[in-house]
Amino acid sequence: MALSPYRSSLQGGTFRPSAMRLERPLSMGSSTKQSAAAAATVVTPPPRSKSSSSLSQTRRSASATRPSRDESGVAGRVRVAVRLRPRNADELIADADFGDYVELMPELKRLKLRKNNWDSETFQFDEVLTETASQKRVYEVVAKPVVESVLEGYNGTVMAYGQTGTGKTFTLGRLGEEDTADRGIMVRAMEDILADISSEQDAVTVSYLQLYMETVQDLLAPEKDNIPIVEDPKTGDVSLPGVTLYEVRDQRSFVELLQIGEANRFAANTKLNTESSRSHAILLVNVRKTVRPKQERELAALNENVTNLQLSKGHRIPTIRRSKLIIVDLAGSERVDKSGSEGHTLEEAKFINLSLTALGKCINALAENSPHVPIRDSKLTRLLRDSFGGTARTSLIVTIGPSPQHRGETTSTILFGQRAMRVENMMKLREEFDYKSLCRKLETDLDRLVAENERQNQAVLDAEEEMEQKIQEAQQSVTEAEKKLATTLEEMAAERFRFQKEHAETLHKLEQERALREKLEKELKDNAQNLHAQKEKQMQSEKAKHQKELEDFKQRHQQELIDLTKRLEVEHSQRDSLERKLVEVEHLVKQKGKIELGGQEQIMFLTNQCKELSRLKEKAEKELQEFRSKTTLATKKLKEENASLSKENKTLQHDLEESLKQKKALEHEVKNVKQQLFKLNFEADETRKSRDKEPTRTLIGSDSPLLNSHKPMNMRDSLNGQRASIAKLFEEVGLQKILSLLDSEDMGVRVHAVKVVANLAAEEANQEKIVEAGGMDSLLSLLQTSEDETIQRVAAGAIANLAMNETNQELIMAQGGIRLLARTANQAEDPQTLRMVAGAIANLCGNDKLQGRLREEGGIKALLGMVRSRHPDVLAQIARGLANFAKCESRGVTEGCRKERSLLIDDGALPWIISNANSESSPVRRHIELALCHLAQHEVNAKDLVAAGALWELLRISEECSREDIRNLAKRTLTASPTFQSELRKVHLGHG
Ligand code: ADP
Ligand code: MG
Repeated sequence: MALSPYRSSLQGGTFRPSAMRLERPLSMGSSTKQSAAAAATVVTPPPRSKSSSSLSQTRRSASATRPSRDESGVAGRVRVAVRLRPRNADELIADADFGDYVELMPELKRLKLRKNNWDSETFQFDEVLTETASQKRVYEVVAKPVVESVLEGYNGTVMAYGQTGTGKTFTLGRLGEEDTADRGIMVRAMEDILADISSEQDAVTVSYLQLYMETVQDLLAPEKDNIPIVEDPKTGDVSLPGVTLYEVRDQRSFVELLQIGEANRFAANTKLNTESSRSHAILLVNVRKTVRPKQERELAALNENVTNLQLSKGHRIPTIRRSKLIIVDLAGSERVDKSGSEGHTLEEAKFINLSLTALGKCINALAENSPHVPIRDSKLTRLLRDSFGGTARTSLIVTIGPSPQHRGETTSTILFGQRAMRVENMMKLREEFDYKSLCRKLETDLDRLVAENERQNQAVLDAEEEMEQKIQEAQQSVTEAEKKLATTLEEMAAERFRFQKEHAETLHKLEQERALREKLEKELKDNAQNLHAQKEKQMQSEKAKHQKELEDFKQRHQQELIDLTKRLEVEHSQRDSLERKLVEVEHLVKQKGKIELGGQEQIMFLTNQCKELSRLKEKAEKELQEFRSKTTLATKKLKEENASLSKENKTLQHDLEESLKQKKALEHEVKNVKQQLFKLNFEADETRKSRDKEPTRTLIGSDSPLLNSHKPMNMRDSLNGQRASIAKLFEEVGLQKILSLLDSEDMGVRVHAVKVVANLAAEEANQEKIVEAGGMDSLLSLLQTSEDETIQRVAAGAIANLAMNETNQELIMAQGGIRLLARTANQAEDPQTLRMVAGAIANLCGNDKLQGRLREEGGIKALLGMVRSRHPDVLAQIARGLANFAKCESRGVTEGCRKERSLLIDDGALPWIISNANSESSPVRRHIELALCHLAQHEVNAKDLVAAGALWELLRISEECSREDIRNLAKRTLTASPTFQSELRKVHLGHG
C-alpha cells in the first residue's frame, strides 16, 4: 500500500507566522489518500500551485477590507475536522457491522471510507474526532484557535456541515444546562471571549439569525423577517442593517439570548411549517478591543514616524481592533429532492437548498482556483464572503453518521470537507488607529498648552511690573540716603567750625589773661620798689597784705587755669567724638554705595529672569507650531495613501479583465483540443480496423490514454490522468462503443476495454448506465467465455462493483451469474481474481431475497472452495460473505420467516469458521466473530455450534472482542440461549 506524498505547500502550517501564538495542533494539511488495494481508485487532485493563485488573490485584495497597516496579511488555509456521531439505539440494532463502512484513524488524522466491499478510500483531515471525542476536545481543536484569532483582531468563522442528524447542532449549539460537559462551541467561545476582554473599554455584541428560503430573519426579534444584506463596495465588509445587536456582559445573559433565539426559531418554523434542518442558523459576535500598551510597542515598530513622535510626546495613537466571529449551523446537507417527504414543489426545493448549493459551488471554485467564484449567487455565500477565500480564519467541522445506509451522503460530506481544505484565506488584522480619539486628545492638549501659554505670559508681565517697582523703591532709598548724608556732612562741618571758633576764642582769652598776669606782676614789682622806699614798716605790713592778696589772686588764677584746662580737655574730647562721628558718616557713605550696588545686582537678576521667561514662551510657541505642521503632514500622507490605494484598485481591475480575456482564449483552445481528441479516437479506431487486417502489427499503442491502465496503479498522477481520460472518453466516445469493444477479437483491445468498464463501474453514478447499456450481460459472458486470467479478474471485479446494488444483484442472479462466478472460483489460481470473485459472491450473500438460490447454485460451496488460496485478502472476502449470509439468516429468524438450521452449517462452513475465529488477520477475525454471533442467534443452530466448539469462541468474543457492540451481542446471545446456558452450567460457567 503506497502512500501518496504529502502536499508540501500545506504541511508544516503556512497558517501563521511564527511570531504569533496560534501555531496550533491543527497543523496537518496534507490530503494524503491511501489506496486500499491495487484495484482501489484513488482520487487526489494535484495541489494548487502557489503561482496559479494570483487570480484569486487579485479578487481577494479587491474585495478585502484594508486594515490600517498590515497589507500583506497572513496566509491561512481553511481547517477541516471530521466528527463521527456515536451510534444511536436504532443503528446499534440495525447496523451491527457498521464499522466496515467508516473507519477512523485518529492518530493518523485519517478516515477510511469503504467504497464498496473491498475497495476503500482514505482521506486526510486536519483533525479526526471519533464518536467518543468530548465536547471540550472538539472545542479546543476546532474552535479555540479561531476564537483566539478573533481576540487578536482577525475575523473568524466556525461552521458545521453535514447531513441532518449527524450532530451539527449538538457540536455548536448545546447549552449544557443539564450537564456542563455537554456545552457546545457557541457557549464555550463566548466564555473565552468574555474572559479575555476588559469590561471598561471593550465591547461584545451578539446577533442571531436564521436564513431560510433566501430570507434572513432576526432570531432575537422575529418580527424582523426580511433583513437585507449590504456590502460595502469599498471594503467588501458585509452588514445587516436593522438587525438586533445585544451587548453581552456576562455568560448568563448570553445563554439566555441563545435560548430566546432557539425558541423563536422553533416558533417561526412551526408557523411556516418548515423544518429547522432546512434553515441555517447564524450567530454573529462582534468584538471591539482597545489595544494595550504592550501590544502597542509592536505597532511602534510598524509605524515609526507617527508612533515614535507620539510616544515621545506622550501621545500614543490609540488603536482599536474590531473583529467578528461567525458561527454557522448549516442546514442539513442531504439532497432535498431525495425523500420528497416535506411536500415541496421541485422549485421550492431548489430554492430551499439554493444557499447550500451555492456554498458548494464557491468552495469548488476556490479549491480549483477558478477565476470566477459565484459569491453573489446566494445570501449565505454573500454573508460568508470573508470566511472562504477572504480574510478570516475559518474552521469547518464536517459531521457524519456511522450508518452505511447513508453511504452517499457521508461520501459527499467527506468530499465537501476535502475540497474546503484546499481553500486558502489571507488573514488580515482588523485594526485601525483611533484618529477620532487621538484628535480629541490633541485638541485637549492644544487647549491646555494655549491656556498654559497665556498663564506664562501673564506671569512674565507680573514679574516685570514687580521688578520695576522694586527698582523704583531702591532708587528712592538711594536718593534719601544721599540726602541724609549731605545733611549730616553739613551739620558736621558747622559743628567743627563752631568748635574751632570756640577753641580759638579760649586760646585768645588765655593769652590775654597771661598778658594781664605778666602786666600785673610787673606792676607789682614796680609798686614794691616804690613802696620799699616809702614806708618800710608800712611797707612791711603792706607787703604782707599785698603778699596775701597776691596769694589769693594766684590761687584764683590757678583755679581759673585749671578750669580752662578742663574746658580745653572737654573740647578736645568733643572734637574726638566729632571726628569719630565723621568717620561714622564716612562709613555710612560707603555703605550707601554698597546698597546701591546690591540694588543693581537685584535688577540684573530680575532682568535675567524676564529673559528666561520670554525664552520659555518662545520655545512653547515653537513646539506648538511644529506639532501643528506634523499633524498637517500626517493628514497629507493619509490622503496620498488613499490615492495610491485607489490607483492600485484600478490596476487590479484591469488585471482581472485581462485574465477574463485569457480565460476566453483558453476555453476556445480547450474546444479545439476536444475536437482533435475526438479525431484521434476515430483514427485509433481506424488503426485498429486496419491492424485487424494486418496481423503482424502490434497492439494499439499503450500510451493511448484509454489503454494505459497497466501503469503502476499507485502512481496518483498517472491514475488521475487515466481516470480523467476515461471520464472524457465516456463522455465523448459513448458507453455503447466501449462495451462493443468487449467483444473485440483482439485480445489486447478486450483486456483494455474490460479495464475501462471496471473502472467506470467503480463509480456509483455510472453503474446504472452500464447495466442499462447491457454491460452486465457482456461482463458475464466475458467471464464465461474468456480463458484469459486478466480478463477474468477484471470482469469479476467489475461484476463485484455492480453487485453493490440490490437491483443489480437480482439481475446477476437471474442471468446465472452465481454459476459463472462459482466456475471461475474453482478454476482460477490468481489470488486477486479469487478476491474479486469472493467479493462479488460476498455482496450477493447480503441480499435476503437471494439466499436460497445462491446456495442452490453453489455460491457457499464456491466461497468455501476458495479458502485453498490462503491469501488474507481472499479469506477476508470469504469471511465477509459468510457474515453477510449469517446476518440475513438471523434477520429472517427475527422476522419469523425462517425456522430451519443455517444453510451455512448444511454446507459445512462451521469447521472453517471455528478454526479462523481467532485469525491473526483482523478483518477475517471481525467478520467471523460477527458471523458466529449471528449464527448463535438461532436456537436451532445451537447444538451444532456447541459440537463444533463455538461456545468457547463466543465466550472469548464476549470478553475480548475489540468492538463493544459485538462483545455485547455475544453476551446477549450467550444469556438468551437455553442450550448455551445449560452447557455453561455443566462446566459451572453460567453466563449472565
Ligand atoms: P443535526 O444538527 O446535524 O441535525 P443534532 O445535533 O440535532 O444533528 O443531532 C442529532 C441527534 O444526535 C441528537 O439527539 C443529538 O443529541 C445526538 N448527537 C449528535 N452528536 C452526538 C454526540 N457526539 N454524542 C451524543 N449524541 C449526539
Ligand atoms: Mg441541527
